[in-house]
Amino acid sequence: MKLLAGRMKNLGSENAFKVGDDIRRAEQAGMKVIRFNLGEPDFNSADFINQVAVDHIHRGNSHYCPPAGIESLRRAVAKQISETRGIEIHPDHVVVTVGAKPPIGYALMSYVNAGDEVIYPSPGFPIYESWITYLGAKAVPLHLDEKKGFSFTADELEKLITRKTKLIFINSPSNPTGGVLAEEELAKIAQVIRKKCDENVRVYSDEVYEHIIFDGLKHHSIISQRGMQDRTVLVSGHSKSFAMTGWRLGYAILPTLEEAAIFKNLNINNFSCTPPFIQEAGREAIENPSSTETVRRMVHEFQQRRDYVIDALNSIEGISCANPKGAFYAFPNIKGVCENLGAIEKYKKLPKSISPRTSPATLFQKFLLYRHGVATMDRRSFGQIGSKGKHFIRISMATDIDSLKLGIVQLEKASKDRDGFAKFVKEAKHLY
Ligand code: PLP
Repeated sequence: MKLLAGRMKNLGSENAFKVGDDIRRAEQAGMKVIRFNLGEPDFNSADFINQVAVDHIHRGNSHYCPPAGIESLRRAVAKQISETRGIEIHPDHVVVTVGAKPPIGYALMSYVNAGDEVIYPSPGFPIYESWITYLGAKAVPLHLDEKKGFSFTADELEKLITRKTKLIFINSPSNPTGGVLAEEELAKIAQVIRKKCDENVRVYSDEVYEHIIFDGLKHHSIISQRGMQDRTVLVSGHSKSFAMTGWRLGYAILPTLEEAAIFKNLNINNFSCTPPFIQEAGREAIENPSSTETVRRMVHEFQQRRDYVIDALNSIEGISCANPKGAFYAFPNIKGVCENLGAIEKYKKLPKSISPRTSPATLFQKFLLYRHGVATMDRRSFGQIGSKGKHFIRISMATDIDSLKLGIVQLEKASKDRDGFAKFVKEAKHLY
């Protein structure tokens, strides 16, 4: 009898939480590590938000509360989303969750049977692919092209839709690419979905980076398109916009009350409710007018760093980097570096026991960390299916500008360190 259920081998993960072990090992070996791996703002939540949580704890608001979320937060979310998306959302369609991550699994469990097809962006947030494979659904990656600013067109999506398609993930602004879908493209995507999909196919619109958008662009959501409110599960949250990652606060907006009841029941089955004092603080973040300026300052800082980082990356031989329009990540193409260092050749010569678990970009990412002290994420961390032959790393710009400058100097050194790389691969200690 086997200890684990067969499906456990199909559950993926989020390497952003695993790279910490590598960093610790590199630091134990004496390396000073600059962290370009972080998927969270390097700002703290605002005092006016923190104070509300503290006050509520002192007042004894630390018990169970309604599983779908407290009424005042659901009302605040419904009002904000209604105003910004130009639609009417009733608070009863809002379900509060511990972060914006649980709705991913909820949507897959609620809508998708084994064998159904699920379309999702690749590179994309790895938890989509993880849940899809875990539940035995068919993963259909929608490959994002750097030449199009990591956006995708309605035509590309249309080619992937079949009669078995049940759920379509979109994520704008995108992790890890910073790509942003323009309103005109969203209109065409909505048209394709209306034309090609049964009314029971759901679009999962992951909008957690909605406030982090550059160059004066405006965030647009597919839910605003004609007929799409009835088909869209809109998910957002406080982690990125209000620098509240550790608070664990997010929400889903469901097309029907029946679906909202299912998400609420999944909350009950998992964690009962999101802590009430956290929800009160989250309500404050949405309603307090000071938030506008706090978010504006953070986004301005990210944009300044973006301007520096993208120029600096593009000046390194072997690297090209599209200009991210949102979120706080750069996603440089490092194919030239992999070629210069001989990473592609070395990867091909790895034993079969190792090669499926790594890639040329992974070898470079490990080398960069263990020998040059810069922690990044490799392409494989953002969807593995169909990632072969794609050579990218993700650089988080949620790091102060001095560290960014220092890290990019190290990155350039690593990109030229052919001998060091050969030695690193030969030692074969950290290849995946
Ligand atoms: N969706 C995307 C695209 C993300 O990048 C993240 C976090 O990195 C999440 C969802 C999960 O957000 P949270 O930390 O609020 O659960």
